[in-house]
Amino acid sequence: MQQRFYFCPKCGGKLSCLPYDQRERLTCESCHFIMYENPIVGVAGILIQEDRILLGRRSQSSTYPGLWCIPCGYVEYEEEVREALKREFGEETGLRIEPQNVFAVLSNFHNPACHTVGIWFIVTQTGGSLTAGDDLDQAAFFSLDAIPPLAFPTDATVIDMLAKGRKIGEFSVAGK
Ligand SMILES: [Zn+2]
Repeated sequence: MQQRFYFCPKCGGKLSCLPYDQRERLTCESCHFIMYENPIVGVAGILIQEDRILLGRRSQSSTYPGLWCIPCGYVEYEEEVREALKREFGEETGLRIEPQNVFAVLSNFHNPACHTVGIWFIVTQTGGSLTAGDDLDQAAFFSLDAIPPLAFPTDATVIDMLAKGRKIGEFSVAGK
């Protein structure tokens, strides 16, 4: 794997790739701290209304500008995953939501500099009004057979799973 970090976060010493536990680990030459590299956790919310899914278009200042994605974001350290989703979804769409069941959990390898694990929740709207914000400059509902160009391969996988799956109605939650 390509080396992504060069200095020890504990002492500022030089990090070298050294064999440890049958794989190479970034190890500090000064204090011997081992810097484990783990994927970052992301959350995404699948909001379906009238058989259409809510997608956001990524703004010019975000990564993958002009491409669309299922509203998503990173989980902050010390933040619970569902709380992270409510926060991110609110920032990006203006909508208040309640996460329901987990629909998919997938590894994202599209960016070699930052591997992530995504958790896609089915969500229901509890309030707010649709306004693109944060990383998005547009937000709109799309029929599953007319999806615009997507930023992330795993969103395509998830939409495929939704389209091939049972009727959309089964992913909606009673009462909403
Ligand atoms: Zn160190």
